[in-house]
Amino acid sequence: MTTHANARVEDVLDYDEVLEQFDPVLGLEVHVELSTRTKMFCGCGTAFGAEPNTQVCPVCLGLPGALPVVNASAVESAIRIGLALHCDITPWGRFARKNYFYPDMPKNFQTSQYDEPIATNGYLDVELDDGSTYRVQIERAHMEEDTGKSLHVGGSTGRIHGADYSLVDYNRAGIPLIEIVTKPLAGTGERAPEVARAYVAALRDLLRALDVSDVRMEQGSLRCDANVSLRPKAQDPSAQDSVPLGTRTETKNVNSLRSVERAVRYEITRQGARLLAGERIVQETRHWQENDGVTTSGREKSDAEDYRYFPEPDLVPVAPDADWVERLRGTLPEPPAERRKRLQQDWGFTDLEMRDLVNASATELVEATVAEGAAPSAARKWWSGELARRANADGVELGALPVTPADVAELAALVEAGRINDTIARQVLEGVLAGEGSPEQVVSARGLEVVSDDGALGAAVDRAIEANPDVAQKIRDGKVAAAGALIGAVMKEMRGQADAGRVRELVLERLS
Ligand code: ADP
Ligand code: MG
Ligand code: ZN
Repeated sequence: MTTHANARVEDVLDYDEVLEQFDPVLGLEVHVELSTRTKMFCGCGTAFGAEPNTQVCPVCLGLPGALPVVNASAVESAIRIGLALHCDITPWGRFARKNYFYPDMPKNFQTSQYDEPIATNGYLDVELDDGSTYRVQIERAHMEEDTGKSLHVGGSTGRIHGADYSLVDYNRAGIPLIEIVTKPLAGTGERAPEVARAYVAALRDLLRALDVSDVRMEQGSLRCDANVSLRPKAQDPSAQDSVPLGTRTETKNVNSLRSVERAVRYEITRQGARLLAGERIVQETRHWQENDGVTTSGREKSDAEDYRYFPEPDLVPVAPDADWVERLRGTLPEPPAERRKRLQQDWGFTDLEMRDLVNASATELVEATVAEGAAPSAARKWWSGELARRANADGVELGALPVTPADVAELAALVEAGRINDTIARQVLEGVLAGEGSPEQVVSARGLEVVSDDGALGAAVDRAIEANPDVAQKIRDGKVAAAGALIGAVMKEMRGQADAGRVRELVLERLS
């Protein structure tokens, strides 16, 4: 076992070179924390960020004699997720104990589902950057519970090695998790990293639409483990499917969409170098190192790892009847991809405009802004322009910026009414983001309103004419284009806050 501190830097090969010789195969395991009010098998709360060990009880601490009860609302979410992924829902399935020792798992076993998962055999169609679709085959989705969290204090790596002491927080222990596992995904070729990223993004959108989870990768409520293997490329592409799969590695807890793509790409280049050097790939878990952009070796993990699974004796089997399942099918949301197409049509956006919105995760925000009365084009302009840039620069999600769809609609209305122009609108937005209040409030507090009152404008126009007699003469001689210089002078004097259209009219009125 190696740790990050002494991990050797491994050789990698040029990506395109690897792809000439090998066919990558992906397997994606996504864990999603459900946003149920209570835990999977007890009544403890699930709020993120609570004081350590304040959301615990004898059940989720695994104290002797404590008996678990299944959370019906978690089962409901699991079934809805399964249905949205076009899976079969099992009419009868037991929980199982997955036995292993780890300090953040106080029961010494994880209550999970093993050979009787709630949902099996589905698929999710994933749209790629070029507009084409890749169908990701889903093996299963099963219910389980999350572990607690360890914090290793002292030492430089945050790992247990070299730490002075460790702290354990059991608040997360027992939070409902759904693990969604794909079949081995072949045929992606050079687009394997993109498919991996696009799949996790599509799954996130779907889970968000189902309203079953926060799906916050940075907070760990959506986590992805990426399995990657390479197999030799067949001479005849149609024979590729009969080439046996290579040995896979499993890169753990890759916690952003971009990292999913990078980690898969890195593994392909690392495994390619190994294989071409005549070495074998070790089946192991690996860790994604965000800062270095590499994966490092974790523990060796064989398929035959003995978790001593056995059916959970303290819980009744989950046996959803057909009526319940059909009722839940009726609650499924419009699939995100279809919804996007519909909105694109309603809003009259081009494919490119729509893709920018989606990439900026701005669709819902634009929808909400339009609902507040803004024109779709104005809503799009602010969210995928100025605000997306700001979110990027601050390293936060668009939705986390301190500005609401109502603020953006108000800003758009001010521009629409001619009370501010685009340049001033940017300053207003800055004020809103700085916590100075709503756009209206910022405009009046900072005195930003465009001046369109003829008295003030007329006086400024007269001053500009007086100061630029040659320009004025040109306009009198019929060179209307020269008006720009006078308008510019007025705008400068009024610090950009003049109604440019009215200034132009006044200049021409006076000089014709
Ligand atoms: P584990 O218990 O090791 O996590 P799982 O069955 O939960 O195993 O998940 C393994 C994932 O890897 C699945 O998505 C599976 O389809 C995928 N997989 C299996 N074999 C390969 C392979 N040779 N190459 C790439 N992915 C694979
Ligand atoms: Mg797994
Ligand atoms: Zn509890």
